[in-house]
Amino acid sequence: MPKVKETVLEIDLEALAHNYRFLRSRLHSNTLFLAVVKAFAYGSDASKIARKLESLGVDYFAVAYVKEGVALREAGITKPILVLHPQAVNFDTLIERCLEPSIYSPKILREFLEAARRHKQKGYPIHIKFNTGLNRLGFGENDVAYIMEQIRGRNEVKVASIFSHLAASEDLNEKAYTKKQIACFDTIGKSFDATLGYPTYKHILNTSGIINFPEAQYDMVRSGIGLYGFGNDTAIDSQLRPIVSLKTVISQIHKIAPWETVGYNRAFTSPNQKVTATLPLGHADGIGRHYGNGKAYVNVHGKYAPIIGNVCMDMIMIDITGIPCQEGDEVLVFGAAPNAETFAAFAGTISYELLTGISQRVKRIFIND
Ligand SMILES: *Cc1c(COP(=O)(O)O)cnc(C)c1O
Repeated sequence: MPKVKETVLEIDLEALAHNYRFLRSRLHSNTLFLAVVKAFAYGSDASKIARKLESLGVDYFAVAYVKEGVALREAGITKPILVLHPQAVNFDTLIERCLEPSIYSPKILREFLEAARRHKQKGYPIHIKFNTGLNRLGFGENDVAYIMEQIRGRNEVKVASIFSHLAASEDLNEKAYTKKQIACFDTIGKSFDATLGYPTYKHILNTSGIINFPEAQYDMVRSGIGLYGFGNDTAIDSQLRPIVSLKTVISQIHKIAPWETVGYNRAFTSPNQKVTATLPLGHADGIGRHYGNGKAYVNVHGKYAPIIGNVCMDMIMIDITGIPCQEGDEVLVFGAAPNAETFAAFAGTISYELLTGISQRVKRIFIND
């Protein structure tokens, strides 16, 4: 691997392919695979990732907002794109770009029917979202009759799927709750199809759902974090490959005398002679202040170097005392070790937040394309 000369997020497309094949191997061969590529494909690069996944045979994509779906269309993605959390203000764009809305409330249903009529649509695919216990977005179990009243005889839309989302699919202590959600979704699905008069796809599983509740895969699954290399489970993590590595370089090395301080607010006071390295990476790049002051470490030539003092906007100082290294040497912030899950845990957060928070300022590079 060529050594980096600045801060980069290295994205391994072969690792992505590996993760996709691994997740697919846990499913029936006819189950459709929806790849969740919201938030720049979990902080990597939505266009590149989606194009690779489309070439690998992914059936569907999902993003959170209309703007993200437009970016995928601009990138040449032709597979259907589900928009998980659209707002009515963007419905004209959504229809123009053939994006498929999640319809999650009476208000958004009325607004979409109105937009579909304005655009003279026939059979426009929509996806009805049901709340089975996450209490975030979605119609209730008892809203089926209401939805039917609204869409009966309205040929501007066609229900492509109904779906729900699990609250704790990664947590086996919550197995009973997850099973209750699945049973509730099952009931909704049966009453929905019985009244609608044509079949719809059903889907409820995210990555951890695929791992822990494969019996509920229905017609399609929606996977995000697994594609990027994490399964919320150490046994599964060992079979997945993190697709991104955040790498940087040593800008400058300093010798710090006893009782000198390092960084803003003089937050670190050196108890003895130390050697520090300054890195071109800071909270504006997505490594927040909560990683500072000894909470997190980075990897310098296989040795762990803690972040000392406060994280600055564009710089981080690390303690490299006793680690042979020079200005210009490469530093791994997270990737193979520590991995994103471990690094995130230093600050009490999760891989999802760390990955999606790597700012657009960081250059993305691709390997194994
Ligand atoms: C983000 C999201 C997913 C993907 O979840 P992972 O845990 O990353 O697999 C699936 N479904 C919905 C509704 C989501 O919002």
